[in-house]
Amino acid sequence: MSTSLEQLVELLNSEQNSNYGSLDELKKILESEEDLLSKCLVFTFDFFSQNRADELKSRFVGKKSPLQDLLKSLKNIPAEERKGAGQLVNQTKQAMENAVTKFLKTYEEHLEQTKIASENEDITLPTCFAKLGSRHPISVVMRDLLVPFQRMGFAVVDGPEIDTEFFNFDALNVVKEHPAREMQDTFFLASEWVLRTHTSNVQSHAMKERGIPLKIVCPGCVYRNEFDMTHVPSFRQIECLVVDKGIHMGHLRHVINELLSAAFGRPVKIRLRSSFFPFTEPSAEVDVECQQCFGKGCRSCKHTGWSEIGGCGVVNRKVLENCGVDPAIYSGIAFGFGVDRIAKDRFAVADLRSLFDGNVEYLSSFSLT
Ligand SMILES: [Zn+2]
Repeated sequence: MSTSLEQLVELLNSEQNSNYGSLDELKKILESEEDLLSKCLVFTFDFFSQNRADELKSRFVGKKSPLQDLLKSLKNIPAEERKGAGQLVNQTKQAMENAVTKFLKTYEEHLEQTKIASENEDITLPTCFAKLGSRHPISVVMRDLLVPFQRMGFAVVDGPEIDTEFFNFDALNVVKEHPAREMQDTFFLASEWVLRTHTSNVQSHAMKERGIPLKIVCPGCVYRNEFDMTHVPSFRQIECLVVDKGIHMGHLRHVINELLSAAFGRPVKIRLRSSFFPFTEPSAEVDVECQQCFGKGCRSCKHTGWSEIGGCGVVNRKVLENCGVDPAIYSGIAFGFGVDRIAKDRFAVADLRSLFDGNVEYLSSFSLT
């Protein structure tokens, strides 16, 4: 018997279904149908369109496919062969459905791979949504402050932020009764340990460890129990110390001039105002002309026209002695500046606290690099 699936269905539905044949012949017809599907799938893969894929599915495994018609027509074959024929047709139907599903999945993967290959994208490129950050105003000032120091041959040294009372106070001639040692001004840790209140603690460490002559600068974080428009509990200072023979206030003035011009990025008017610090004698406060009102007086400078940047002076003889240096031979100069204060003045920031509240939009308004 040489017939197609359609012919077989027609035969079964006709009156002469006694010519149906045998299970072997049915098997051959079904194999032929499967083979035809397989060839069509190969062709469709090369000339794929969604319509063609839908037609193929409908023709071979759809509700109106010849295979479905055959299932319905099996009722017309002799009862003793109906069960075997039904199993055969169902197995073939399942195999063909699997083949179509597998084909569609394979084609989908093929499309994805083709798309990736054709796009040829450089996935290492930054996205157009990437936002570049900018330097924090304080980082910029700190960087600019260190430039003249390095040009003048200073060594940049680090110091401990947690230190003993001896190095933070006693070695610097700050007596036990000094107000700076009050609990409300200083963060005390365990017995005799404090968060350093100034970078001056590096002075005694450096003199003891490095010896004389000494020419150092120490940038770092310091801590005080203060919080208002011009004070924050954690802030940065930069400490300068020179100890050698014949060092005097003239050297101090020169270094300060060099430093503040670099820190502000332009020449600024400064003044040294006589003051007192236990670790220097004579001592002076360093003031810079207010960069918001330029001397006229405003809220930021408390209507003085000047902004206090830090303290300076000739190193007290007692400090030198405490650190094993003979004040009869050597003398020294030292100063400590508040880096945050300089940033506040340079960038005309009204409230120092706004530099630390994490407002990225505000900080990026400086557009610093
Ligand atoms: Zn002012």
